[in-house]
Amino acid sequence: MLKANHTIQANKDYLSELDRAIGDGDHGINMARGFAEVQNKISRELNQDIGALCQNIAMTLLSKVGGASGPLYGTAFIKMASVFKGKEKVSLDEFSKALHEAVNGIKMRGKAAPGEKTLLDVWEPVSSYVAEYVADLSWQSLKSFAYQQMENTRPLEAKKGRASYLGPRSAGHLDPGAVSSYYLFEALCLTML
Ligand code: ADP
Ligand code: MG
Ligand code: MG
Repeated sequence: MLKANHTIQANKDYLSELDRAIGDGDHGINMARGFAEVQNKISRELNQDIGALCQNIAMTLLSKVGGASGPLYGTAFIKMASVFKGKEKVSLDEFSKALHEAVNGIKMRGKAAPGEKTLLDVWEPVSSYVAEYVADLSWQSLKSFAYQQMENTRPLEAKKGRASYLGPRSAGHLDPGAVSSYYLFEALCLTML
């Protein structure tokens, strides 16, 4: 999370610029505000199990990020918290299960389907990839895979969120939420490498 925050702060303007092209231009501001507070909170409160940590992150994202993305990221971390409850260590199997739950939560909350140019277009394939390669996961490969999924949102026409108001004109731009989601998975992969 600290690494993710670092990348989000460094790319705050870039994320907002992406959102300016197909949304209202605040995604960088939203994410930077939320993740700065996550960093504050998790640095202050030590010795939590991973479930409690994820729950704490979820509540912070829910209250601080705002916009469409805040509740979606919040839901993802609430779902992961339920899988990690009471755990001091997490196996890859449990991580895979947590991602699966997070994706279901994102779908339930945002009613998006894959291919609709949202952050789900990173989360869903990443979750499937981890499930498929759970016995022999390469963090380096997962990072490249996640990057490719982010890139794949570029030609898509947005069907959900503010970008959908643009219809076909939303094609040709990366989805801001897919980019911030890539930053999260990139940070995880770099931490695990
Ligand atoms: P807002 O659009 O309210 O200003 P943000 O700019 O913070 O919120 O977040 C925009 C991002 O949220 C989009 O790039 C997209 O990835 C994601 N998003 C929007 N609506 C949905 C949805 N229904 N399901 C999944 N993701 C969504
Ligand atoms: Mg926005
Ligand atoms: Mg907004």
